Amino acid sequence: MDEKTTHFNGWMNRPCYGIIKIMTKQILKKTYKYRLYPSKAQQEVLEDYLSICWWLYNHFLEEKRTLYKKNKTNISCFDQIKEIPELKKKKPELRKVYSQTLQDVVRRLDKAFQNFFRRVKENKNGGKKQKPGFPRFKGYWRYDSFVYPQSGFELKDDKLNLSKIGSLKIKLHRPIEGNIKTLTIRRTRTNKWFTCFSMEVKKELPEKKEIKKAIGIDVGLDSFLTTNQGKKVDNPRYLAKSEEKLVKIQRWHSRKKLKSKNREKSRLKVARIHEKVFNQRQDFLHKLSNELVSIFQFIAFEKLNIKGMLKNKYLARSISDASWNKFLHLLSYKAVEAGSWTVEVNSKNTTQVCSGCGNITPKTLATRKHKCSQCGLEIDRDINAARNILQLALATVGTTGINPVKSARGGAAKPPFNRVNACEVGRMLPTMKQEAIGFNRW
Ligand SMILES: [Zn+2]
Repeated sequence: MDEKTTHFNGWMNRPCYGIIKIMTKQILKKTYKYRLYPSKAQQEVLEDYLSICWWLYNHFLEEKRTLYKKNKTNISCFDQIKEIPELKKKKPELRKVYSQTLQDVVRRLDKAFQNFFRRVKENKNGGKKQKPGFPRFKGYWRYDSFVYPQSGFELKDDKLNLSKIGSLKIKLHRPIEGNIKTLTIRRTRTNKWFTCFSMEVKKELPEKKEIKKAIGIDVGLDSFLTTNQGKKVDNPRYLAKSEEKLVKIQRWHSRKKLKSKNREKSRLKVARIHEKVFNQRQDFLHKLSNELVSIFQFIAFEKLNIKGMLKNKYLARSISDASWNKFLHLLSYKAVEAGSWTVEVNSKNTTQVCSGCGNITPKTLATRKHKCSQCGLEIDRDINAARNILQLALATVGTTGINPVKSARGGAAKPPFNRVNACEVGRMLPTMKQEAIGFNRW
């Protein structure tokens, strides 16, 4: 989108606003999540509904597994859907579930298989060396949602009417906009029920704001993020904080008899702690991304290689606790809606290059200080990285013609190129000056 508008920059002044207007109107996909408050009886209906879908999933998975093991063939999604009416005769409970919901179960399974076949193919071509991983049977708590794909639901005031289930109380804590595409009902492990509406919102995106403040951020384990101005936001480590409590309860839980009431009680306790940690983390991520988007019109960060990082088993736990992926996603979509820029840069060498002179200063993970032998710059390793990230991002955008960078470079923009790799940093550094843009609080 951004690219297209910049391409049109050249003839912005000509009377072709119509086209540009079409270009700036985007269909945004959004998900709205609301809590449901089913009665006791309704809760049982929902449980029942979910377990029928769960059964169907595993049943068709069994069928696919057998076929694949026997002669490496696959039965199509379409053919399995055609089997449903016959299956209903054998298992009348299936009639309790809305037929499109049943079909969606088959599609969900099909997706799992398509991913499996894709991984097999990638392996054959010698690309990624990950094990293909045959789709697995789902446990009771793992199968936690069902879908109304197109119809069978209606939202009226504070009631959600679902075909074959009835009228459920819903708390619409924020207004909903757009057309509902699909509706998902989800059960949490603490036995709460939620609904997610996937919406398509046709929205005119705001014009990109003038860039008054720009920021480069580096995410890491020591601090959740470090900015180019040296501000650090601590990593909250919510999971680590609840760890002690969790270990205690889990020990208690494992001593309980299977399927006993006490075991269910301890299961709930564990689930509640995980839920609390999840909520705390979400809250933190939302607040931080809101704050950044409200202050900065230009935010630069580096492309994360989480998969690679997760391979390090010592770091894995703290990395998934840090949830940068989610954070950067929130940051990006909030920025789009606010008319701000986010630029993701290639992470290669951002820690090694000196942000003062562009000289490459190799360091290991353990080296916390950046010391440049060429220009003598001595700063924190993460601050150095954050500065590089901002400079790289400004350079990328600068060459596609955005005002502040043009003035910072003091000349006309060069022809556009999308990716700047780190070896070009050195060449750009002497002319790029951050001081061209004002920084205050952050
Ligand atoms: Zn240097």
